[in-house]
Amino acid sequence: MPLVPMRVLLDHAAENGYGVAALNVNNMEQIQAIMAAAVETNSPVIIQASRGARSYSQDAYLRHLILAAAELHPNIPIALLLDHGNAPETCYSAIAQGFTSVMMDGSLMADGKTPSDYEYNVRVTREVVQVAHALGVSVEGEIGALGGIEDGHGAGLSEEEAKKHLTDPAQAEQFVAETGVDALAVAIGTSHGAYKFSKPPTGDVLKMDLIEEIHRRLPNTHLVMHGSSSVPQELVEIVNKYGGKLKPAFGVPIEQIQRGIKHGVRKINVDTDNRLAITGAIRKVFAEHPEKFDPRDYLKPAREAMKEVCKERMIAFGQAGHADKVRIISCRGVRVTDLRCEGDRVTGVRLLDQGVDKQGRPGEGFMPGMDIQAALTVVGDGPVGAIGQQLDDLFGLPAGHHTRDWAVGMKFVVDLPEHSTLKPGTVLHTFGFPEPEIFGFLYVHPDRVASLGVFVPSWFDSPVRTTYRYLQHWMLHPYLWRHLKGGKLRSWGAKTLGESGRRGE
Ligand SMILES: Cc1cc2nc3c(=O)[nH]c(=O)nc-3n(C[C@H](O)[C@H](O)[C@H](O)COP(=O)(O)OP(=O)(O)OC[C@H]3O[C@@H](n4cnc5c(N)ncnc54)[C@H](O)[C@@H]3O)c2cc1C
Ligand SMILES: [Zn+2]
Repeated sequence: MPLVPMRVLLDHAAENGYGVAALNVNNMEQIQAIMAAAVETNSPVIIQASRGARSYSQDAYLRHLILAAAELHPNIPIALLLDHGNAPETCYSAIAQGFTSVMMDGSLMADGKTPSDYEYNVRVTREVVQVAHALGVSVEGEIGALGGIEDGHGAGLSEEEAKKHLTDPAQAEQFVAETGVDALAVAIGTSHGAYKFSKPPTGDVLKMDLIEEIHRRLPNTHLVMHGSSSVPQELVEIVNKYGGKLKPAFGVPIEQIQRGIKHGVRKINVDTDNRLAITGAIRKVFAEHPEKFDPRDYLKPAREAMKEVCKERMIAFGQAGHADKVRIISCRGVRVTDLRCEGDRVTGVRLLDQGVDKQGRPGEGFMPGMDIQAALTVVGDGPVGAIGQQLDDLFGLPAGHHTRDWAVGMKFVVDLPEHSTLKPGTVLHTFGFPEPEIFGFLYVHPDRVASLGVFVPSWFDSPVRTTYRYLQHWMLHPYLWRHLKGGKLRSWGAKTLGESGRRGE
């Protein structure tokens, strides 16, 4: 199955009352352990990689390993999440690498250490949501700050200090309204790392009642528990038995997580337990078989030990048994080439052939385009989409009865120059310049950002009149240029749009 956005899995978990373990990876064996556990328990999975993991494994290795997991296990829906993105740019680079979900952790400043203020958190998170959602990528935010440090990320708060940074339920509600995040990580007393609590946690340090209060206020937001390894004593003991030196530590008891799942917790981050399992297994081989030196001799048991922990969590959180029930398939960025029809009924679509050379001939790795069968097919490929036109040819108006008109729209998004006096909310429409039938617009957004552009109707058929030139000509009009001169281009693009009015009715 292609990778899916995390939202798909969390919505399914919410509808069916279970939680999903979000498991961190850095290498092939960890990905294999998770996938083996998922296959054995029929579980959908969230695989996450931190910034540290991305630099350790390098994005390209990580991307191909995850794609290998998807190829080998087509029945397991996999969401790939950036864990603790420290800044919007980190989230965007993850999206560019094919992550289907990102966490924008604006609870800390971009250094990943200093607790931020609420306004900063809202600003960066909202920005990421806007970009990510436009690309079908889910976003997790965080409000309140956790204790401990994970992969160099974290304020390093002690158990005592972390109490002062617990999530405020009213603020959480406001944060979700202002940012539109899909999932929200909350601080309820857990922390990253192996040393979460100095004794088995009770209600005064692990605030499960806070989860219940947040869930009451945000019944439709997926809550996330970070730092939620259980730190099983038997795993700590194995590590120490074979030469490790871990101090006594206590994690989050499984029953507490299960209580959270009853109250809106849908994603539970587990990393430490897997690290313990791997380390214990490797130490055991080293201690018992000092003569061994083939990495497979210790990586295999390590992978096996991690798989067992993953399986236990998948079963305990309730995600086991659900992989084949998640029905949504997302094929982002794959072109549809044809409609599939039976008689006068549309039965689905055909996707583009994969692995063809520049001339369209099957090359190495050729895979014919997949057919997707559906009870209902909704076509939305734009005003001059090829599939929409096929549909029109088959079932639309008879030839000669159309009055179709469209335009090419081209748009700039700019940072206005310092001297611009344009206020956010300004709407400016122009007509008749630089040609009688060209329409122009300029909209001013908050933070000195403006979008502006022109529409050039399709009945302008001269090849030398390009939309790009019209736009440049248009914006040099003195009325506009005085606001734009010295501004900075953020991005630009063009697309078709349907035109109506006098000619298009
Ligand atoms: C510069 C500009 C400014 C505009 N401003 C406004 C405005 O202020 N207010 C307003 O109401 N409207 C505005 N519009 C019009 C509005 O954007 C369009 O009417 C609207 O986006 C059309 O939506 P759609 O979903 O039908 O098509 P689109 O938004 O064009 O979406 C079609 C999607 O289908 C994908 N696609 C196409 N073919 C295939 C294929 N074979 N396989 C897979 N995917 C495919 C495309 O990549 C695209 O993502 C503007 C348009 C432009 C160009
Ligand atoms: Zn975390």
